[in-house]
Amino acid sequence: MRSLPLVGRTKWTPEMLVAVAEGESRALSPLVQRGPEGAMEAAAMASARAEALVTGALESEPPETDIACAKGCSVCCQAKVLAVAPEVLRIAAYLRETLPEEARAALLERVRAADETTRGLSRADRAEAHVPCPLLDGEGGCSVHPVRPLVCRSWTSYDAAECARYWGAPAGRLTPPQYAVGYELSQAVLAGLGKACFDAGRDGTPLELIAALRIALERPTAGERWHKRLPVFQTARDAEWMEASGVSRRGA
Ligand code: SF4
Repeated sequence: MRSLPLVGRTKWTPEMLVAVAEGESRALSPLVQRGPEGAMEAAAMASARAEALVTGALESEPPETDIACAKGCSVCCQAKVLAVAPEVLRIAAYLRETLPEEARAALLERVRAADETTRGLSRADRAEAHVPCPLLDGEGGCSVHPVRPLVCRSWTSYDAAECARYWGAPAGRLTPPQYAVGYELSQAVLAGLGKACFDAGRDGTPLELIAALRIALERPTAGERWHKRLPVFQTARDAEWMEASGVSRRGA
């Protein structure tokens, strides 16, 4: 899977994006330190911050063309999604609050089935596997839309037909054109949230969403365990990210 360089003509220089991430980590780290509730609050604040930054960017640096993403289009909801622990805990809490027990049990079965076929796949192999996200609601909507991960918020395509072509046969193709400024800003906030975890002495390694959500749904104490620095999400850590970052599988 290849993508075009994302930063084009924009006022957001790499240094400014690093400053966004640094600012987020400073603001969010004390929340993460408070415990699982604080970590979920940090995830909520990061989502709000990304949304505000992207809204501002859409005004100051309008997209080259209309954004094609619309409710009911879920063609990209088969990509490998990475999320950090506070985001995963927030999604699991949302599902516990909003779904009746029977629906939650059915969802957990779908999450388990998707996890069995996707865990450990590279980004490219995941794209080729064509496994829909188990959080899709059956009508092309995201069942956790208010608490969806920052990665899912970051992708805004310019061309729905190109998305359909890409996801139909991704091998060797460039990813579809997208609003790069929004992507970069959301990714900077995500980096800040991850760093906030590390700065608070907790594991902020990006996790495979489906694998981590399975753990969080199967183990209601996952948040407490993560906060106690127990390796509850260790098996869901994204090997690709760790390899690229030079982090060992056993390291925090
Ligand atoms: S979490 Fe929601 S937006 Fe993200 S891939 Fe799954 S269904 Fe799509």
